[in-house]
Amino acid sequence: MKKIQMVDLQTQYQHIKADIDRGIQEVIDSAQFIKGPQVESFREHLEHYTGAKHVIPVGNGTDALQIALMGLGLRPGDEVITPTFTFIATAEVVALLGLTPVVVDVDWDTMNISVDAIRRAITPKTKAIVPVHLFGQCANMEAILAIAREHHLYVVEDACQAIGAQYTFSDGTVKQAGTMGDIGCTSFFPSKNLGCYGDGGALFTNDDELAAHLRAIANHGMVVRYHHDEVGVNSRLDSIQAAILDVKLGHLDEYIAARQKAAARYDAAFGGREDILIPGRANDSTHVFHQYTLRVVGQDRDALKAKLAAKDVPAMIYYPVPLHLQKAYQDVRYKSGDFPVAERLASCVLSLPMHTELSDEQLDYIIEAVGK
Ligand SMILES: *Cc1c(COP(=O)(O)O)cnc(C)c1O
Repeated sequence: MKKIQMVDLQTQYQHIKADIDRGIQEVIDSAQFIKGPQVESFREHLEHYTGAKHVIPVGNGTDALQIALMGLGLRPGDEVITPTFTFIATAEVVALLGLTPVVVDVDWDTMNISVDAIRRAITPKTKAIVPVHLFGQCANMEAILAIAREHHLYVVEDACQAIGAQYTFSDGTVKQAGTMGDIGCTSFFPSKNLGCYGDGGALFTNDDELAAHLRAIANHGMVVRYHHDEVGVNSRLDSIQAAILDVKLGHLDEYIAARQKAAARYDAAFGGREDILIPGRANDSTHVFHQYTLRVVGQDRDALKAKLAAKDVPAMIYYPVPLHLQKAYQDVRYKSGDFPVAERLASCVLSLPMHTELSDEQLDYIIEAVGK
């Protein structure tokens, strides 16, 4: 049996090697490393895939979040609501822009931002909500969009872990992660569900004017009517990464299905247990399983992790420290105990190996290793 990894990009590459190698070689032959036709091609294909009217490729997912908040014209002091149980990038760009991050708790089952907590956190200074579609499942967008409409707030979706996840509204409308708010952001970091071989990211929006503005900001703040004196950034997806992503986008549905199949095996194995809880599912979103994250409630999480490691089964803690307890984000407004669900999750989550290349033999081995 092949060594089990959290993510197996080598085996995935072997299956698509001819197409990937050809794509990379074409870029090198053309020497159009920046702004090559591959970037436009990928952009069009991703617009088609997601249904977003505009896709704006950028340098990485963190840049996408920063450019999104810049594009909405938020000002220092404006409050941005985001979950405390997530990757640091969201709060980081809020802080870097001089905005005020307002963190809120998450739901125990879906691990996504709590709608009630959002409601309680709104003040006259609130300008935007940044829900994170954590681990590959959409946050409760119908409720979040309703709150945003009621209070005139922007919604920026952090869809870095959820590309391809589908959200169903109560009227039956189905939309993809990242295409429901004013702006959606995604990352093409290698281990993400649609990953390149370096850094990459994109913004999604259905608003023409906003799209032009975001494109300008990503390009040094250049060339946009009414925005001549805007400070921009330099954030580009390069042609080689776009060529790779164009190939992998063609396999994304198949990759999602492979992740869901592995998740179904885990669910079947652990679904009845009381000491280990399987990821809770929202009834309005599909789950594309960027991570398969257990909540270890009836035994010692770290001991289980060590036991797995001893059997050569990797497992990871995403995320061990909520934002409000991070050293860099210490704030008089928050203290330990303020966000009990997030704090409990940080102490009990354990993500199992999850990728597109898990064999039945490997899944059997992992399930056996987790034990009874
Ligand atoms: C990966 C990730 C990001 C940042 O993406 P990069 O491309 O690494 O900058 C932001 N938010 C979430 C939730 C992520 O998982």
